[in-house]
Amino acid sequence: MFMRVDRLITELPPPAAQDPNAAAALQELLGGKYGEMSTLGNYMFQSFNFRSKDKLRPFYSLVASITAEELAHVELVSNGVAMLNNGPEKKNQDVKPGGDPSLTPHEAMKEIRLASAFLSNGGGATPVNSNGASWNNDFVTTTGNVIFDLLHNFHLECGARLHKLRVYETVSDPTGREVCGYLLVRGSVHAHSYALALKKLTGVEIEKMLPTPNIPLSKIPECQKYLDEGSHRRLYTWSPGDYKEISGIWSNDEVALPDDPPGPLEVVEGMPDGGKMQQLAGVPSAFTPDYAPEEFYEIASKLYKKSR
Ligand code: MN
Ligand code: MN
Repeated sequence: MFMRVDRLITELPPPAAQDPNAAAALQELLGGKYGEMSTLGNYMFQSFNFRSKDKLRPFYSLVASITAEELAHVELVSNGVAMLNNGPEKKNQDVKPGGDPSLTPHEAMKEIRLASAFLSNGGGATPVNSNGASWNNDFVTTTGNVIFDLLHNFHLECGARLHKLRVYETVSDPTGREVCGYLLVRGSVHAHSYALALKKLTGVEIEKMLPTPNIPLSKIPECQKYLDEGSHRRLYTWSPGDYKEISGIWSNDEVALPDDPPGPLEVVEGMPDGGKMQQLAGVPSAFTPDYAPEEFYEIASKLYKKSR
């Protein structure tokens, strides 16, 4: 089962400007071959399909707990995409009616790369890549062979790192950069954890291949605060009581990768504190949440008071 918490895995800074083409670039991290939908889909179905769960508990728990973090990454990238599509929010922007639609208030949107992000999705994110191609099941590998699946997951995390580095190099906006910086740190943890799992099973020191691609996190300014707080040494169970067995793999006798700030690896029970989720205020001229939403707000406010 899953539980949901109304917070974002890390807080994102507001965008400097509306930049739908930057949002389109960020879509690669959501619906691209190595995007968050792929890591989520792979680990989720591998954990559902896992054989001999009790006998292989540390390995099952690793894939199962990281699944939950990947869902939070899907949420993070989706929020980043919507924030870049919408730009900085103006005070009370969703209060007044939408104005005259015949004045082509959104003419600029016909020129953007992923026009459907505005036309169909109201500036939100969907599981497509940076060219608008749909994410699909062909990106999911779940063979039931533990070594093969873990090896695939290691490859997937290295591929995700490559995506993130390239997207990072294309976006100057603080929102997009924060998404990349945070996910680079967490992706490095996941690649490291799958490498350690493979080492425990085979004796091969796969973690020595990291980082792949070969650039240390210290070169990316947005990674620094996460490195300073030790995020690169932390793996979460994402559960109040389950999946603690991951400490057999992500264990205290293992240490951070050589290029990162030193220290032992640690398992944290539960989930990260996370940060505040953005409002994503409506744009009445785009009919979000509608052209004249005041009546909705009034109804919602009455219902809220009743629920207290
Ligand atoms: Mn991820
Ligand atoms: Mn990952």
